[in-house]
Amino acid sequence: MFCKSCGTKMNDNQIVCLSCGCSAGTGSEFCANCGGKLNPNSVACLNCGVASSFGAAQIQGKDSNVSDKDWLITLLICLFVGGLGIHRFYVGKTGTGILWLFTLGCFGIGSIIDLIMILCGKFTDADGKEIKHGK
Ligand SMILES: [Zn+2]
Ligand SMILES: [Zn+2]
Repeated sequence: MFCKSCGTKMNDNQIVCLSCGCSAGTGSEFCANCGGKLNPNSVACLNCGVASSFGAAQIQGKDSNVSDKDWLITLLICLFVGGLGIHRFYVGKTGTGILWLFTLGCFGIGSIIDLIMILCGKFTDADGKEIKHGK
């Protein structure tokens, strides 16, 4: 492995680069696999084809529109106290949660729509990420 900050060869069990003092795996200037200089915007090393930290983030980004909120908990909250908007508080949508609280889930309609959305895996949290069953 190579230091991603300065490109110096490192031992695999080294936690800090002895040349620049950066901890292993930090930086995006050099390829950790071959030590070649990286273009900070390229998704992979042009020498060896290994994904750069930028590329790895992009690959991980594919899953990032799935919420880490628990689907079953959201469903159960909505089922039992959906009319009070508690499920919206749970996912961080405090604003509409308060609205739901005062209008009893938009007179029931809002909470029924939310319930259907949750069941379809289309209900989103405050970050706009979908809450999925068995994520
Ligand atoms: Zn270094
Ligand atoms: Zn490389």
